[in-house]
Amino acid sequence: MTVVNTVSGPVEVSSLGRTLMHEHLVFGYPGHDGDRTMWRIDDDVLVANASAAVETAKAQGFSTLFEVTPNDCGRSPLLLRQVAEETGFNVICATGYYYEGEGAPAYFGFRSLFADIVAEVAELMVAELTEGIAGTGIKAGVIKIGTSEGRITDYELAMIKAAARAQQATGAPIITHTQSGTMGPDQARVLVQAGADPSKVIIGHMCGNAKDLDYQLATLKYGVGIGFDRIGLNNMFNDITDEVRMDTIMALVERGYRDRIFLSQDSVNNWLGRSAAGFYDLPATEHWRISRVGEHILPGLLQRGLTEADLDQLLVGNIARLWG
Ligand SMILES: [Zn+2]
Repeated sequence: MTVVNTVSGPVEVSSLGRTLMHEHLVFGYPGHDGDRTMWRIDDDVLVANASAAVETAKAQGFSTLFEVTPNDCGRSPLLLRQVAEETGFNVICATGYYYEGEGAPAYFGFRSLFADIVAEVAELMVAELTEGIAGTGIKAGVIKIGTSEGRITDYELAMIKAAARAQQATGAPIITHTQSGTMGPDQARVLVQAGADPSKVIIGHMCGNAKDLDYQLATLKYGVGIGFDRIGLNNMFNDITDEVRMDTIMALVERGYRDRIFLSQDSVNNWLGRSAAGFYDLPATEHWRISRVGEHILPGLLQRGLTEADLDQLLVGNIARLWG
């Protein structure tokens, strides 16, 4: 029996069911805390918003989500546990740091002047995966790392090495962030070189470069999984739409990669900070909701020739294989 740590405790991997592998129930960019004077959100409101999102996913047949908010972006394990218990849903949270440009690199940047930050971050990740997060007893279930647009910074490389080390110690999967459809193959190569098991890696946001099949294949070459995990976010900083995503998924399935594709939305269901309602007035975010995979992508893939068994492989079988 293989078990994964959800925020409510260990759950057998074989019972996770249909899973969204990259969502955010609570997220805040570093800096939101400094704006505290200007905003206030009660925990009850955060829990209610998150629970409503989870109920939407549940009504579509999902029973698990990976809440991959990094440590430096408002990760809230106690709130996640409350949501998981209120909804009876599996929520798996992450340990790790965001990419340098939108994360909070100053702390470990400072420590790198006098300490081995690869060892320190690996120690943190292993502690959060095996003992719990900051005294809550809530354990992370997956590891998160990210890289910048067009390059991997020294800071990000340290995080990658720490992640590979923590994976070797715990067997936990690694979920990544790539920026603007770049660095997928490089990230996969560096992770594998650092000792990560490619069958336990999902290179994230690969759909940010969905029109470039060679980019997909060059990444898959390393044996990793790929996340088509920004579904619903259309024409945001690029010309990628859900129709393009689905066409590329079909092209990859035809080439035999059905077992290495993962679907999710990267939806944010609570923004820490002042109201972000205006963000949802942008045309690009019109369909960016936790419901998009269930209501548009799954029917669209069936229409393009996939079967229900194929969808179960994408949403259940591929997830289970992350734990071997
Ligand atoms: Zn994300």
